Amino acid sequence: MPDPIRLSVTHPTGQYDVLVGADLLPNLAEIAQIRGPIALITDSNVGPLHASRCGTVACVVTIPAGEQYKTLATVQTIYDELLAAGIDRQATVVALGGGVVGDVAGFVAATFMRGVDFVQCPTTLLAMVDASVGGKTGVDLPQGKNLVGAFKQPTAVLADIAMLQTLPPAEFAAGMAEVVKHGLINDPDLFGRLEIGDWRLTNQSPISNLQSLVATAIEVKRNVVQEDPFEQGRRATLNLGHTFGHALEQVSGYRVRHGEGVAMGLVAAANLSARLGCCDAGLQSRIEAVLQAQNLPTRIPAEFDPNTIFQAMFSDKKKAAGKLRFILLRDVGDVFIMGDVAETAVLATLTAVQYT
Ligand code: NAD
Repeated sequence: MPDPIRLSVTHPTGQYDVLVGADLLPNLAEIAQIRGPIALITDSNVGPLHASRCGTVACVVTIPAGEQYKTLATVQTIYDELLAAGIDRQATVVALGGGVVGDVAGFVAATFMRGVDFVQCPTTLLAMVDASVGGKTGVDLPQGKNLVGAFKQPTAVLADIAMLQTLPPAEFAAGMAEVVKHGLINDPDLFGRLEIGDWRLTNQSPISNLQSLVATAIEVKRNVVQEDPFEQGRRATLNLGHTFGHALEQVSGYRVRHGEGVAMGLVAAANLSARLGCCDAGLQSRIEAVLQAQNLPTRIPAEFDPNTIFQAMFSDKKKAAGKLRFILLRDVGDVFIMGDVAETAVLATLTAVQYT
């Protein structure tokens, strides 16, 4: 087994470590330095596979798997189960699952008894490289994604690569969309390695290769969130492709996975950037080639109406004062925020990047 890679994340009120390694969960309490009882929150897919690996816990709360359960109603059922199990302020909430569990459990940890300690044990590639680091938590409303939430920094993140072996291949691919995004935002070397096929990994690849990929992708996120912990500036660039992606998730009734929406959103962002004269027109096909190599969709399904997608974008938080704000590309590793993008340009892009 390779030694764990330790990445330190500093934030306005402290610091925590992200550990990327294998078979970390059996030593969860020791590694994460948890002293009180553990309230483990997981979902109906991950719990039966992995909850028993986490050592002694005071209670396990299992929520149904899926984005459609990232709701306030689910949060209420968790509060009920925690109270029924006698959980109090001394407890640590541990999220064992993908980004949905991490976001919901983090929101519970931020609010239950005015806040309890929180540890993230991400089990999807997406949650390892993105959702578990940075302290954003929350739930969806019928009007749109992530519309209610809180910043809640974990005290530790344990990215146990062994978890990825049970991950369905389509979920692994969805996580690769965020890895590609991180390369595009701030790591041309990472994007280059994906482009030449150096890092064409699956969830069954050797642990050391996956460990290296995950740690490299986390570093990009770590560096951005450290600089801008409350998303007042540069952190918004982590949303590259997300204004399109969230809208596609929403109009599909969440049949499109988050990572798949991001993949299509990255292509749309490159198309829009070129349309507005910000980048070379060839960048879109470079991005598409990298995403296709990871078995990700790159074009918007023909049955999605561009006007409906456009309307869904307006329920997204990333609009500022009624104007659509986009993260655009100048080149690989060079992204920026543009406010007030013309509706006609956005609609033209939505049409141009549809499957015909
Ligand atoms: P997910 O949590 O829905 O997990 C995907 C599927 O994989 C689920 O069915 C889950 O049960 C299953 N699964 C998870 N781990 C498994 C394992 N090891 N073996 C077998 N099955 C497993 O989806 P996701 O892609 O991990 O996360 C998407 C969510 O993350 C979205 O809600 C998105 O908004 C959120 N997100 C949050 C942030 C943030 O900063 N907070 C960043 C990015 C994404």
